[in-house]
Amino acid sequence: MSAEAFRQHGRAVIDWIADYLEHIEQHPVQSPLKPNDVRAQLPAHPPERGESFEQMLRDVNEIILPGLTHWQSPNFFGYFPANTSYPSILGELLTAGLGVQGMLWATSPACTELETHVLDWVVELLDLPREFRSTSAGGGVIQDTASSATLCAMLAARERVTGNATNERGANGTLTVYTSQQTHSSIEKAATIAGIGRANLRLIDVDDHFAMKPASLRQTLRADRAAGKVPAFVCATVGTTSSNAIDPVREIGEICREEQLWLHVDAAMSGTAALCPEFRHIHDGLELADSYCFNPHKWMFTNFDCDCFFVRDRAALVRTLSILPEYLRNTATESGNVIDYRDWQIPLGRRFRALKLWFVIRHYGAEGLRGLVREHISLAQEFADWVRESDRFELITDPPLNLVCLRHIEGDGRTQAILKSINDSGRAFLTHTKLNDRYVIRVSIGGTRTRRQHVEALWRQLRDLA
Ligand SMILES: *Cc1c(COP(=O)(O)O)cnc(C)c1O
Repeated sequence: MSAEAFRQHGRAVIDWIADYLEHIEQHPVQSPLKPNDVRAQLPAHPPERGESFEQMLRDVNEIILPGLTHWQSPNFFGYFPANTSYPSILGELLTAGLGVQGMLWATSPACTELETHVLDWVVELLDLPREFRSTSAGGGVIQDTASSATLCAMLAARERVTGNATNERGANGTLTVYTSQQTHSSIEKAATIAGIGRANLRLIDVDDHFAMKPASLRQTLRADRAAGKVPAFVCATVGTTSSNAIDPVREIGEICREEQLWLHVDAAMSGTAALCPEFRHIHDGLELADSYCFNPHKWMFTNFDCDCFFVRDRAALVRTLSILPEYLRNTATESGNVIDYRDWQIPLGRRFRALKLWFVIRHYGAEGLRGLVREHISLAQEFADWVRESDRFELITDPPLNLVCLRHIEGDGRTQAILKSINDSGRAFLTHTKLNDRYVIRVSIGGTRTRRQHVEALWRQLRDLA
């Protein structure tokens, strides 16, 4: 493709994206397609001769678009948001245009230094513990996902508790890790990848609000130590995926300090709320944590993938993940004065992800970000009030932030049928969970374009079906 053609098609693509997002409400939120509907329209073999860009864009319109669930729709209330914004999209485009690798400081100094700097900004924006700043013994790194961040934290914890022995000689089968029954599936996945094993993952009881019970954690730790196990790692969740439960980080952190255990705090979705001082109580006790992560790619208007991962002791992480082959040796690394982020993550190569986050923060400013987060939370709280006043629906738990969990009073069958008719209507999209063995509708409010009228329309639709 010539530079001239690129300019022309590039402008067309930018126009296409702006049109798509401006008119996104015209599409059914959930794709109505059945398995293989998309593939049946694609040629069986790759083209022998190059095709025109116009042809490709036409196929995007005709084949791809109908096969999408529109995550950026303001009527998307499923799972957790994966929101984007124009400044973020432009940052992604620049990242693609630059095409640099940021594995070492030496492979592109600005890629590393902007990331370190923006993550220090994030510590300030969320008022995170100063131990997470790059100027302390800790620091931050952008990972692809919270799953990867949690895995890195678990690996560093594993090496710390064994004095690096598992990296040298392999795991010994006695290590145990702890999290709540409501935790995200990524903790279980990390335990299997880290060689700890599912059987050594302890799922601690939760209270009436689905938050971890510190007393049960303490009890389980005692029993394990008595049985000769070696506890290595605890993961607390700030904002569980099912119900947005907030584990008591301070009490869990105090236990971890006494027991000399690595505490990781997973705030993938809800961490963003800490932009606002009035919601920072969710992080109470975070200064006791060894590591922490949240996803700007969920609620902070930044394209997937962007997870901010912070550690208190970067040496522990680097010791766990550092390997220096001859072909990567360089004087900057050897000077010890630079950060090489390949030692902070699983892969070697890394995208220039800091650009989009930098653009988002600079475009909105702290005040702009707070405004949107406050609006989402207050809409969710209002929605919860409508549920409380209704005689057809009931809340499962008081929503701490922007996720409302409700059910129809007639039970699972009715609740499930309502969710299905909403999704089939294409006017809104919802997903479910199970809490206390009951089928529950989750209303997750956090889309970049979600405003009062969308939330009101969803409530009207629910009411009409009840
Ligand atoms: C979404 C979520 C995750 C997983 O996030 P990824 O970035 O997709 O790995 C982990 N923990 C919690 C609490 C989540 O909400």
